[in-house]
Amino acid sequence: MLGIGIDIGGTNTKLVVVNRAGKLLAQDRFRTEASKGSPDFVKRLAAAVGDLRRDYGRQLVSIGIGAAGDVDPERGILRFSPNLAWRRVKIAEPLEKLTGLPCSMENDANMAAWGAYEIELKRKSGNILALTLGTGIGSGLILDGKLYHGATGSAGEAGHVKIESEGRPCHCGARGCLEAYCGSYAIMARARELIKNEAAFIKKFAAPGHERFNTICLTNAAAAGHAAARQVWAETGHYLGCGLAGLILLLNPDYIVLTGGVSRARKWFMPAMNKVLGSQQIKTPFARVKIKISDDADLGSHGAALFGLDKALK
Ligand SMILES: [Zn+2]
Repeated sequence: MLGIGIDIGGTNTKLVVVNRAGKLLAQDRFRTEASKGSPDFVKRLAAAVGDLRRDYGRQLVSIGIGAAGDVDPERGILRFSPNLAWRRVKIAEPLEKLTGLPCSMENDANMAAWGAYEIELKRKSGNILALTLGTGIGSGLILDGKLYHGATGSAGEAGHVKIESEGRPCHCGARGCLEAYCGSYAIMARARELIKNEAAFIKKFAAPGHERFNTICLTNAAAAGHAAARQVWAETGHYLGCGLAGLILLLNPDYIVLTGGVSRARKWFMPAMNKVLGSQQIKTPFARVKIKISDDADLGSHGAALFGLDKALK
């Protein structure tokens, strides 16, 4: 039995076919083009699912979707997505009608958490907090082996947990959120404060063909011994440690899985992060928790496929 996983992104929508072990069998993608409206999008999505069914037929038993934004998982509604500029959009139900396959929809970070649970940890632990460290910070919670939704399906907004009461401005409109310190936009804003000659910095540290002032460039600079770049990563690690400390005290997870582009700079932010986690007064939850980094860029889409399968086969 096979499941389809769908990751709806601002630019592209990705589809994968995986088996129950999480092995990738096929993939496809098309441009999301959210401005054409959601009914048009759902039709194109159903057509892409139809293409996969021609190849895999009745082996395909479910669809799982991960979408960036505020999702109502019970009704399959994308309540709001800043990336797509959609509000109160129905996706799961119309897709079910067009394809005849049971369809679940969840927040994309929740599906990355499910992917971490099934693929990275092979279900050996039931208490996992996963953080997707990108432009923004998403997170998902697996508690006692179940995806935790909270009262309105909104659980896991770890990126907007406050770590400074009147701190830096966040994309959400508030101040002092974890994301306002550890989202890539915030990391690069801090880098701009310390690195004055941006053009020379890019010339020296960006990869050829990718001449941009971004976290990859900042990681290369840290590796080359650039003091300000190392300082920015150390500060990032400190703030990430502060955010994680609160979450570990609250949840007592077995694992924290960090994924997303920023997690690739682990070598440069983890020492400061671990220092914060190692200096807590209440020791027990910190002694047990393991921090795992996943470089699997497909955790979200594969996780969505496996979650859809899990739900359909229950
Ligand atoms: Zn925020």
